Amino acid sequence: MSQLDSGKRRPHSHRTNTLAAHAGDDPFRFLGAASPPIFQTSTFVFESFEEAEEAFANPLNHAIYTRGTNPTVKVAEEKIAELEGGDFCRLFGSGMAAISSAIMSCVKAGDHVVSIKSVYGPAYIFLATYLSRFGVTTTFIDGSSVAEWEAAIQPNTTLFYLESPSSYVMQLQDLQALSALAKRHAIKTVIDNSYSTMLLQRPLDLGIDLSVYSATKFLGGHSDVVAGAVVGRMELLKTIATDEHQLLGGIIGPFEGWLIARGLRTLPLRMRQHQETAGQVADFLAKHDRVARIYYPGHPSHPQYELAQRQTKGASSLLSFELGTQDVEQIKRFVNAIRYFGIGVSWGGYESLLMLPLITYKRAKPESEWTNPGLVRIHCGLEDAADLIEDLDQALAQM
Ligand SMILES: *Cc1c(COP(=O)(O)O)cnc(C)c1O
Repeated sequence: MSQLDSGKRRPHSHRTNTLAAHAGDDPFRFLGAASPPIFQTSTFVFESFEEAEEAFANPLNHAIYTRGTNPTVKVAEEKIAELEGGDFCRLFGSGMAAISSAIMSCVKAGDHVVSIKSVYGPAYIFLATYLSRFGVTTTFIDGSSVAEWEAAIQPNTTLFYLESPSSYVMQLQDLQALSALAKRHAIKTVIDNSYSTMLLQRPLDLGIDLSVYSATKFLGGHSDVVAGAVVGRMELLKTIATDEHQLLGGIIGPFEGWLIARGLRTLPLRMRQHQETAGQVADFLAKHDRVARIYYPGHPSHPQYELAQRQTKGASSLLSFELGTQDVEQIKRFVNAIRYFGIGVSWGGYESLLMLPLITYKRAKPESEWTNPGLVRIHCGLEDAADLIEDLDQALAQM
């Protein structure tokens, strides 16, 4: 038995709300504390040679040093692993620490990666520029068709790096078909599942090897913590835990781990609300005469709506739309008239946000698809949908 398990009676269910509330929690190892204590300690001491020896024999389940396992962080890691249907999870200090670690665990010098043009900007830069310094090359494709992935495979391809739906333009990849294709070629598959979370999309069940998260977004959910997660089967996670997590050391602190555990308890409730609100906002925007086009996998106008229906339990809070103008002065008037949507990066928190590639990383991604300066991305927070719709309506009127 692990030092981190009291062996006492705990609720056991595989239903989502109950898992989010109770998975990973074991109050009786912490004097019955309903909310886990924050173990603000770098190191853990042992009573004897034998106890220390046992811990070092099984470091993934013993607290030795906080760069490895911390009991507070472990509560959140177990919640994520159980919710996702994975064997093990490691939290990181940011989504990018999780993404870069997961990618590096799948490549070595001379290897080749296939990914999509619309992948999250910093992940694009990491693959296109940073990893090329170490002799790892990446081909970026549109990624909507499986044939395109197959055509991009080279003899040295070891990784498909997916993000479905993708940042800004919400393009989907067929996870089941791509994981099957990858397995035939001994290629690993990693997906950034931040948009859907494991509640709306279950990549491991569809054969994907690793799910990675910006836990900064929905898992934390309150815009108060930056964190990342990697989750999957034990075999791969053991390597990541002992190599990338330990050696690169991009770990999360105990307090941040505690915030993620707290966020996860309400994840199912928040996701339901985000989804309902975004659906109403998408319907409103799709019908608005000053909106040229919306990008929302939960709306029938999305070109991959059928795939979205098949492989997800719906879309989340994030959607993009093109204003019916390319005139930068008009676009600025719209943005400056918005009140509820904060002009800011990130998403997944309680509050609505708005951002434009025109402002952010347009320059950083030469291969990107968005050529329309009027492309706007919004995150629908937990406010009333009617307030968000009224806000968008008045800002569109002032455009
Ligand atoms: C924000 C984001 C990331 C990066 O996460 P950080 O926690 O900011 O490092 C990765 N992928 C997607 C899709 C994101 O939106």
